Amino acid sequence: MTALSTLDSLYVPLHRIIPFSNVEGQGNRSSIFLQGCKLNCLYCHNPETIPRYAEGVSQVSLRYLYDQVMEAVPFIRGVTISGGEPTLHHKKLIPLFHTLRTQGLSCYLDSSGFFDFERIRPLIEVTDKFLFDLKGEGMGLQTLCFDRKNRKGLIPNNILSETQRIKTENLTRNLSNLSKLLPLNKVEEVRLVFVRDFFDAFKLIDQLAILLKPHPNVLLKIIRVHTKGARDEQGLQDFVPSQGETDQLADYAKKCGIDHILTIY
Ligand code: SF4
Repeated sequence: MTALSTLDSLYVPLHRIIPFSNVEGQGNRSSIFLQGCKLNCLYCHNPETIPRYAEGVSQVSLRYLYDQVMEAVPFIRGVTISGGEPTLHHKKLIPLFHTLRTQGLSCYLDSSGFFDFERIRPLIEVTDKFLFDLKGEGMGLQTLCFDRKNRKGLIPNNILSETQRIKTENLTRNLSNLSKLLPLNKVEEVRLVFVRDFFDAFKLIDQLAILLKPHPNVLLKIIRVHTKGARDEQGLQDFVPSQGETDQLADYAKKCGIDHILTIY
């Protein structure tokens, strides 16, 4: 068991805490949003969480987070750490999860899915479930999520620019991590933000269906991208699929053998 004194000495950058949430995994949960993400999704509706250090961001001890969560007990079933990207803080989250689990609380991570699996394996071992983002595939994904130079989050004119330097590991790591987590029974839901034109969502569903086939209980959430809170709301507008297009994608997923689907418009 982790001594509470260990939690006193470890600090993380906190964005905010929602004491009760029922959209961050099963049951009523406390959601903790940490600061910092290595991606730069153009549709990110919490772009202020991308910088790890920013003015006004408070560093709080894990003990503070633990105490906040315990105040919500007995009205919660567990805790979800979100961001930003929570796995950036993988070493520090291990003692927090250990301690929360001894209190009977389940520990979830809401992750972009782009992490070094072996590096964060000790955290995976003490994580009950992932809410796992499926980001896309191909060259458009580089533009959509990996262009860190695009600090203003503007939608570029040429979203599939051939001149971009493609980092292949970026494009494959997401699905590769999912394929490793699923057999460990560590995934509760896979979330796909459906954006038109940046990537072939149907091709992505083909690949996902192969992975999900042996895991019918894993929920696929297809979320039609919304512009609210994005840095370039107007630019993103052209890439919002219609409700009909979103339904078509969900129907296609069903045809591919994925039965457990929730569509969010
Ligand atoms: S992974 Fe999430 S937090 Fe990071 S930029 Fe993308 S949407 Fe924002």
